[in-house]
Amino acid sequence: MQLSFWEKDTFFNNTDAIIIGSGIVGLNAAIHLKEQNPGLKIIVVERGSLPCGASTKNAGFACFGSMTELLDDCEQNGAEAMLSLVEKRWRGLLALREKLGDSTIDYQALGGQEVFTEADKATFENSINNIDKYNALLKDIIGKQVFEIDDRSLKNNELNGFEHLIRNNYEGQLHSGKMMEKLFRLAQSLDITVLNGLEIIRIEEGSNHVKISTQNAWTLKAKKLLVCTNGFTPSLFPSIEVKPARNQVLITAPIPGLKLKGSFHYNKGYVYFRNIGDRVLLGGGRHLYMQEESTDKMELTDEIQNFLEDFLHKHITYRHSAAIEMRWSGILGIGEEKNPIITQYSDNIFTAVRLGGMGVAIGILVGKEGADLLLKSL
Ligand SMILES: Cc1cc2nc3c(=O)[nH]c(=O)nc-3n(C[C@H](O)[C@H](O)[C@H](O)COP(=O)(O)OP(=O)(O)OC[C@H]3O[C@@H](n4cnc5c(N)ncnc54)[C@H](O)[C@@H]3O)c2cc1C
Repeated sequence: MQLSFWEKDTFFNNTDAIIIGSGIVGLNAAIHLKEQNPGLKIIVVERGSLPCGASTKNAGFACFGSMTELLDDCEQNGAEAMLSLVEKRWRGLLALREKLGDSTIDYQALGGQEVFTEADKATFENSINNIDKYNALLKDIIGKQVFEIDDRSLKNNELNGFEHLIRNNYEGQLHSGKMMEKLFRLAQSLDITVLNGLEIIRIEEGSNHVKISTQNAWTLKAKKLLVCTNGFTPSLFPSIEVKPARNQVLITAPIPGLKLKGSFHYNKGYVYFRNIGDRVLLGGGRHLYMQEESTDKMELTDEIQNFLEDFLHKHITYRHSAAIEMRWSGILGIGEEKNPIITQYSDNIFTAVRLGGMGVAIGILVGKEGADLLLKSL
C-alpha cells in the first residue's frame, strides 16, 4: 500500500524527531522533548499494536536492588559504580511517581523482600555480615536502615521452604499497565503522534536527516532519530552491545485468603513473585536455560513454565488450590555492564537502550537523557 500525497503532506511532513519504540523509554523521551520544546513535531513508531517488549509485560517491581544484587554489583564493578546505579534507580522511581501520581499507577510501598533457602546459607551469611555496611552506604541516598533481617515475614506471608528473609524497606510495587497507559495518554495530550503496527527494518542516514523504512514499505524521514528498542536493538544495530533475554511469567486466578503481600526476590532476582490483589504473579527461571532464553522471540516454553508452576506450588500456594490464569513472556535488554547505553551513535542517530531488569526505576531518566542528547543537536 503506497502512501498518498495527503498522508505524506500531513502525518509525515517536517518531522523533527522519530523515536523507535513506545516502551517506557520511548514514551518518556517523546514527552520530555515536547515538554522542552512544544513546537517540535515528534513521531513514535511502534511495531506492536501495543508496546511489544518489556514495559507492559514486566512484574511492576519498583525496586533498586536486593542485598545480594548490590553485593554482586559491588564485587563486579566496585562500590562507587554500584552506588551511582542505586542513586539513578532511586531518583528515577521518585521522578516516575511524581510525574504519574501514586494512585494513578497503584504504587504501594510494601517493601522488597529477598528470600533464602537452607541451600543459600552461605549467601545469606555473607549478606547479613554486610547489612550494616550497606545501610551506612545507602543512608545518604535512600534513607535510614534500607535493609533488615525480617524472618517473621516468611510466616506472615505464609511462605514455605525458605529459612531467611532480608527486607528492603524502601521498595514498592506498581501496576505496569496503568503506568504505560498513563504515559500513552500524556503523549497524546502533548500532540505526540504514536503510530502502532510499524516495524522499522532499515535506517539510512543523510547529512541532515534520517530515513527509516518500514516492513510495509513506507519510508519516513526526520531530522533526528532516537532508538528506544532495548532488547530488540541488535536487529537494527548489531554493533551495539545489547543482548535480548526472555523472561517468562505466570499469574494465578484470585486466591481467597492469600496472605502474600509485597514483592519478593529469590536467587539474585532470577526468580521473582508478588501479589496483585489476591493473585500471585511469578516470573523468572531464565538462569536455568540461559541459552534458550537468550532470544527476542516472545514465546513460552514448557521447561520454564513447569519450573515456575513447581516453585509456585512448593513455596507460595501450597495451602491453596491455585489455578494458573495467564502466562506471557517479555524481552529484556542486557549486557556485560549494567549501565544503559545513552549515546549519540552518529550525527543524527541517538540511542537509549539496555535497561536490564530495572527499567521501571530508570526508564524515565534514560528517556530524558536520550531526549536531551538529541535536543542539543537539533
Ligand atoms: C517479564 C519481565 C519482568 C520484568 N520485571 C521488572 C520489574 O519488576 N521491575 C523493573 O524495573 N523492570 C522489570 N523488567 C524490565 C523492564 O520491564 C524493562 O527494563 C523496561 O520495560 C524496558 O523499557 P524499554 O522502553 O527500554 O523497552 P521495551 O519496553 O522493550 O520497549 C521497546 C519497544 O520497541 C519496539 N520495537 C523494537 N524493535 C522495533 C522495530 N524494529 N520497529 C518498531 N518498534 C520496535 C518494541 O515493540 C517495544 O515496544 C522486566 C522485564 C520483563 C520482560
